[in-house]
Amino acid sequence: MNAPETRTRRPAPRRRGPSPAGRLLVLLLVLGGAVALLAGLFRLVSPGAGPAQAQVTPTAIPTVSPEPTPPLPAVDLNSWELRLVDIDHPLGEDFVPPSLTYIADGQQVDSRVATMLNRLINDAKNAGYTIYFCSGYRDYATQLSIYQRHIDQYTAEGMTQEEAKAKTLLAVQYPGCSEHQSGLCADILESSDQKMIPEIGGSGLMLWLEQHCAEYGYVIRYPKDKTAITTIEYEPWHLRYVGKEAAAYMMENGLCLEEFLALYDAGSVG
Ligand SMILES: [Zn+2]
Repeated sequence: MNAPETRTRRPAPRRRGPSPAGRLLVLLLVLGGAVALLAGLFRLVSPGAGPAQAQVTPTAIPTVSPEPTPPLPAVDLNSWELRLVDIDHPLGEDFVPPSLTYIADGQQVDSRVATMLNRLINDAKNAGYTIYFCSGYRDYATQLSIYQRHIDQYTAEGMTQEEAKAKTLLAVQYPGCSEHQSGLCADILESSDQKMIPEIGGSGLMLWLEQHCAEYGYVIRYPKDKTAITTIEYEPWHLRYVGKEAAAYMMENGLCLEEFLALYDAGSVG
């Protein structure tokens, strides 16, 4: 054993780097820098983490979805109030409402809607309008004669039977398929002279009806821009009773009866 040699090797080689404490300091500085860098990056890619977002309240959740759909009213789709009557859903030749009540101008309606219709008419009068109750309940025979009169008029003007039928059905329901036979609707004008044309919509009594009918459980049954669905042209004078809840929902959301009923169908399937 050569002890002196061993002894000469014992001093540690001269270190070129810093002391252990210095290394630790450098390591801490590097780590600190990395953390600061990562925090900066995070601010760049993370909205809400920067000081500019500090005033945003926790409840302000950004959303890209359209307006929330209000909950559907809990109505009975099989009730008499919501019965859909059209060419695909006829009442038939023999249908008569269970009870009829005279309202005004010799017109009758289903007795169950008489109170609300009287109230609507009185309130419209109190708002300054004159009222002519043009047409309420119509039996099958009356509807048949109205329908035939239109067909005859158009064929007399030179249309073919098919053309006359197509034009008639835009304004007059096929016999047995008219809501008027249900006794749930009412054609209301300002006078017997007022023409039943879409152009009277949006003003005078028609505007009042549009704005207030739902308060009495009525809707404008054939609204503007819904002809593709209802198959009937805009009729601002034709009110249909559907009950207050359904009426409010339909008028507020701009839905015709077909669209309203379809919402429940969609719900039951999905
Ligand atoms: Zn009508």
